[in-house]
Amino acid sequence: MPSPLENIFPVFNEILGRTEKENLLNQRGKVVWLTGLSGAGKTTLAKHLERALFDKGFLTQVLDGDNIRTGINNNLGFSDTDRFENIRRIAEISKLFVNCGVITINCFISPTEDIREMARQIIGKDDFIEVYVNAPLKTCEERDVKGLYSRARRGEIKEFTGITSPFETPENIDIEIRTDLQSVEDSVEQLLQVILPRIQCG
Ligand code: ADP
Repeated sequence: MPSPLENIFPVFNEILGRTEKENLLNQRGKVVWLTGLSGAGKTTLAKHLERALFDKGFLTQVLDGDNIRTGINNNLGFSDTDRFENIRRIAEISKLFVNCGVITINCFISPTEDIREMARQIIGKDDFIEVYVNAPLKTCEERDVKGLYSRARRGEIKEFTGITSPFETPENIDIEIRTDLQSVEDSVEQLLQVILPRIQCG
């Protein structure tokens, strides 16, 4: 059986390189990976962080369930295999953005250490900024932004993270944000302190 890669000829040496593109944008490409329970505040922080970075002249792309699970990953569900494949594709897409000098802000529950480790391996640890967006399950459940927790408690959603599917506390984070203890504005400030030194040129 010939390998499917047999007739693929990488042209990475011939096309414009990452550094040239980063210099054009005057920024370094990185992935800001927000992990945490549903309702912890990933999407909210991503939106505010993106605006704050934009105002400082940085080009970003938010990746979240809305633009990934409805598009490229619309054939995937929430089984263990599909959760891995979901994150694998997201990591590969993020890598393309990073190679173009763009900062991606990724909002995915990414519930297990294995899944987050796979993303880190694909993207490369130097380009991976892991953020634990943390609020207690009780707080997330009280917020119940999308009504998913009540549906999960009623048994209408199987394998719901935090209720019937595990969320493992992240072990390799660059920063933890406690969204139950501080405002969105303070959280964004805290994020910027970690992110800015890693995306600035020079
Ligand atoms: P996720 O993307 O993690 O599922 P969302 O951002 O959709 O979470 O929802 C988080 C909810 O919590 C929003 O309604 C948001 O307004 C609220 N919230 C309250 N305090 C904070 C905070 N400090 N940071 C982020 N979200 C917060």
